[in-house]
Parts: sequence; structure tokens; C-alpha cells
Amino acid sequence: MTTPANSDVGRASRRKQLIVVGILCLAVAAVLAYNYRTYWSKRPPAAKGRTIYDFYTTWRCVACGYELEDRGAEGTRPCPKCQTGEMYVCIRFACPQHGVFPVYYLYDSESKHGDPTRIKVADGEWTAFLDEDYNINICCPHCGQALMPAERSRPAPPAEKPESP
Ligand SMILES: [Zn+2]
Ligand SMILES: [Zn+2]
Repeated sequence: MTTPANSDVGRASRRKQLIVVGILCLAVAAVLAYNYRTYWSKRPPAAKGRTIYDFYTTWRCVACGYELEDRGAEGTRPCPKCQTGEMYVCIRFACPQHGVFPVYYLYDSESKHGDPTRIKVADGEWTAFLDEDYNINICCPHCGQALMPAERSRPAPPAEKPESP
């Protein structure tokens, strides 16, 4: 039989145990939260998905071949030289046998995963970026071999925020 005094002591020690367990739980939770946060902060920002806006690129006029360097964007822009042609994002690709070709890229609202919607190799026809087998459809106009990129990507700094009036 426990005396009232003994049971008080028992209750007190049990309360002390609960407090210790509670503190341990909080400590474990804090460690987990810290690890979770550092895990996410270490993820590369590329996970957000890079787009044509994140790179400097050559813009080339399909009519006269005039070129300028600027940040990539969707769509086309008017040619300041011939006034008639349209400029597209243009990346150089090479065939080991037949040299380097300009490849025009068209980006629009349907572009996914940073891929253009349509491409055009030099004076060829506009065509889909990927063929039926999901291979990149950039082939040499002379021998039909897949072309290789002949320039490095030029990452652009984060886009400036529009100035407030
Ligand atoms: Zn032009
Ligand atoms: Zn070739």
C-alpha cells in the first residue's frame, strides 16, 4: 500500500519523465527541421527550370542574315537592317563534313522544358524541334546527320525587375 506521500512522489517523477520525453521530442523535431531546411537550400536553383530568357543569344534575320546579341525571348523581332525580315533566336550547329549552319529557334507559349516549338536549319523548312522518336530534329541539310552545337551557352544574369514609376 502506498502512502499518499509516496504516490505524490511517484506522480512527480512521472511528470518529470514526461517533461524529459517532451524536451527530447522537441530536440528531434528541431534537428529534423534544420536538416530539411539545409537540404532544400542546397538544391541547385536550376531545379526551377531555365528558359530561353536565362541566356544571351544571337538573334538573326531570316531574310538578310543580320545578327545582334541579346537576351533570348519568345517570338520574333523586326529586323532593323532590312526592315522586311524577322529575327529569330539563332544557334550555330556544325556537321563534321559540311561546316557550320545557323539554326533558327522559335519559342512561343507552347514551348515546354526550355525547348523551342519549331526550328529551321539555314535555308531549310521550318520543322518540329523533336521528331516522332523524340530525337532533336537538327540535321545537316547535305548529309542528314545530326548536327552538334557549335557554340557555348551564355547564361544571362537574372532579369531586371520592371522599374516602378
Ligand atoms: Zn534583315
Ligand atoms: Zn553534313
